[in-house]
Amino acid sequence: MSVVAVILAGGSGKRMGTDLPKQYLQVGDRMVLEHTLARFDHHPGVDELAVVLHDDYRPLLQDAVERHPCTKPLRMLRGGSERYLSVLSAVQAYADRPDDILLLHDAARPLVEAGTISSVLQAMATHDAAVVAVPTVDTPLLSNADGSLMEQPLQRSRVYLAQTPQAFRQQVVARAYTKALAAGPIDSTDDAGLVARHLPHVAIAIVPGKPTNIKITYPDDLLRLEHALGLQATS
Ligand code: C5P
Repeated sequence: MSVVAVILAGGSGKRMGTDLPKQYLQVGDRMVLEHTLARFDHHPGVDELAVVLHDDYRPLLQDAVERHPCTKPLRMLRGGSERYLSVLSAVQAYADRPDDILLLHDAARPLVEAGTISSVLQAMATHDAAVVAVPTVDTPLLSNADGSLMEQPLQRSRVYLAQTPQAFRQQVVARAYTKALAAGPIDSTDDAGLVARHLPHVAIAIVPGKPTNIKITYPDDLLRLEHALGLQATS
């Protein structure tokens, strides 16, 4: 049984407003994706690395790993047009290893801490699925389809915001996707939610996350990343 860190880098990052998707932007001496990859390469609980990406960007990653080689075996997998298709590509790539743990992580979350990765792997000792999530500090509201406020408020103490990493035993996430695909079009942006919906008997551990594990989305997030990495120029 191996632990494979699957770094999802197949997105186009439109909200960033740059030509190059956000995960390929340079921050300091390497791309956002490389910062993310390094966190898993350096973690003792991870055996292998897989990056899911669009073919057009494969040369960028190949050049990067020549400059800064990974210490662990690295596979490159073809991403899809939607996030769930990129996840599915990875799930299918490990179809012959049903007992492996797939540690799915957004390439756009380069600040994930080693302690968070360790906590997820620890939860996998007793569960077949685990998700990093942060309790919400603001009261969440749900709108109706027309944008008006839904009458029934959500109970704040039970609401979490999902982050990554999310870990699944390969056979569990594979089974969830088989069911989801059979049920109709998939609109999920979160794999723990997809597993919970299609395999309700599977207990999914909620691992407390850190608000610092941001998903680089808007231009300001790059400044936050530079700051967190100690790269910001002093004025
Ligand atoms: O778009 P969003 O920021 O939610 O994407 C989260 C992660 O999923 C990103 O790291 C992105 O590269 C990845 N993704 C992917 N394939 C897609 C869309 C998103 O791997 N088609």
